[in-house]
Amino acid sequence: MKFGLNKATGERIRPEPGLFAVCPFCEAALVPKCGGVRIHHWAHRNDKMCDRWWEPETEWHRSWKNVFPAEWQEIILPDKGTGEKHIADVCTSHDLVIEFQHSPINPQERITREKFYKNMVWVVDGSRNKFGFSRFMKGIRHFEYIEKGLFRVANPEEYFHPAWLESAVPVIFDFKGSEPGEDSIVMKNLLYCLFPIRVGKYVTVAEMPRETFINSAINGKWSLHVKRFIDELNREKQEWQIRDAALRLGLC
Ligand SMILES: [Zn+2]
Repeated sequence: MKFGLNKATGERIRPEPGLFAVCPFCEAALVPKCGGVRIHHWAHRNDKMCDRWWEPETEWHRSWKNVFPAEWQEIILPDKGTGEKHIADVCTSHDLVIEFQHSPINPQERITREKFYKNMVWVVDGSRNKFGFSRFMKGIRHFEYIEKGLFRVANPEEYFHPAWLESAVPVIFDFKGSEPGEDSIVMKNLLYCLFPIRVGKYVTVAEMPRETFINSAINGKWSLHVKRFIDELNREKQEWQIRDAALRLGLC
């Protein structure tokens, strides 16, 4: 964790040799890990993380979290009904949760997390599995351009990892990974957002510069635009279902 809790002052503090803090989540004592290899962080004494949804942090996680204000990072969110709580990677002041996912996730956990956070977006490290950048690049020429960075994609199973295709929230793929500096391949510097809602065999994908996503998450426009767009996709889906049913019945 980046932040431990100073119990005396109630402040969130960063790790430094000799500092003491407790875990803001479970209140166990934490140890500052300030070696030269891994990113400085707080760890539990037994090295086990108390929130089972927590993923061991990589440079990729940390650099993503750091584009957002510190007070939005590592936010404990409780479910008022059940008392269950989890640490969101980022929760903006507009109540958008952003979860950064580096490792594969099992579908059940993905569904549970989406239901818990509701207004959320995944940012997935797309650089590290067989559905990586080269496979995506081979597929992108089959994407059908709609308008302004929007594409309609038939048979998305060929280009996107199946774990994310059933997601109920937008999933952003970041193919740049944690390589430092600018990548000469322009498309690695872009983000690809897979929207929920399939219309027939098509999904919709938006290509966008990183800054577009980051700025709209910060200024609060992301959730508004996504909601409006998903409403539109739902309307399209209904129209498609009506047309499809009519075709099946031989009515047109
Ligand atoms: Zn803890």
